[in-house]
Amino acid sequence: MSKIEIIRGDITLLNIDAIVNAANRSLLGGGGVDGTIHRAAGSELLKACELLNGCSTGQAKITPGFRLPARYVIHTVGPVWRDGKHGESELLSSCYHQCLKLAVENNISTIAFPNISTGVYGFPKEQAVIIALETVQHFLGENPEIEQVLFCCFDKGNFDIYNTLLNSNIMIEKVISYEDILITADLAVKIWNEHYVPIIGQEQVNYMVSTFQSPGAIENQINNEHYEYYILYHQSEPSGYFAIKQSGDELFLSKLYVLKEKRGAGLGKEGFRFISRKAKESGLLRITLTVNINNINSIKAYEKLGFKNDGPVIADIGNGFVMDDFKMSFEF
Ligand code: ADP
Repeated sequence: MSKIEIIRGDITLLNIDAIVNAANRSLLGGGGVDGTIHRAAGSELLKACELLNGCSTGQAKITPGFRLPARYVIHTVGPVWRDGKHGESELLSSCYHQCLKLAVENNISTIAFPNISTGVYGFPKEQAVIIALETVQHFLGENPEIEQVLFCCFDKGNFDIYNTLLNSNIMIEKVISYEDILITADLAVKIWNEHYVPIIGQEQVNYMVSTFQSPGAIENQINNEHYEYYILYHQSEPSGYFAIKQSGDELFLSKLYVLKEKRGAGLGKEGFRFISRKAKESGLLRITLTVNINNINSIKAYEKLGFKNDGPVIADIGNGFVMDDFKMSFEF
């Protein structure tokens, strides 16, 4: 966490190993931060860029910094925001990842990013910040040689969003690797035991955890059933998780759980904000979920978030067990 710093100002003034340029595909300069970097680095930068043959969206290329205090400029091309359905999030994440990868390859240990794509390219700012933080934190976890990452915000809007998110100490990370799956399965055992034993009993909890939340079951849901799992971190500790799945014009919120000791830190709320943003971004009409009819606290919490109760559903979950649930939905 401490390797990341948020500052406000002009990125071209930073005395650091590398600054990142939010360039366009030609790499031949443009407006915004790109224009400022070219002006500050001098015409040699343009000459160096002319030799690079442009750059695809989501990729990155490196040049010296020339007259800049920074030794290098890493040029990356952010996605133009259209409607969120054209891979914008993945491409933006790729920009951060590719820049950091180039940094490691060039022995760069301190690097500053502008808020890629959030200017002329129109990427929603809060979403861009979440992607930037997620991608960078994930990379730092695996590449300790990077010593410092600065997010250099030019406008107050971006600066405030970074600080709010970092001060809340909440991070949301998509479950991708097997290691992430093991973290999720471990959280599931803890949370289901502390939360569901009083509601459905130990025997059913054991059955459900081993059938639906074992590492293998989670892996299968992700790879074959189109579920996306996310881990909620609080102060860098795995503290909860959620799973979602798109079905028609709905987003099915399959799970959203927080460890008992972490309740009250705003994790559920932040998770739900992320989920509803994602649903809206994909043009979906509602979020649906099922919740056990005896799970009074969760029902209340969902009602507080704006869900309405659509009535009871009974699900046969095998092995002689049934779940008496309410179906709830949140309309946009
Ligand atoms: P994009 O086309 O990727 O959206 P822009 O340059 O239009 O790129 O904007 C990206 C971000 O860079 C915006 O948040 C903008 O406020 C910021 N920005 C503009 N000038 C500078 C600068 N000199 N230093 C740091 N950030 C800057």
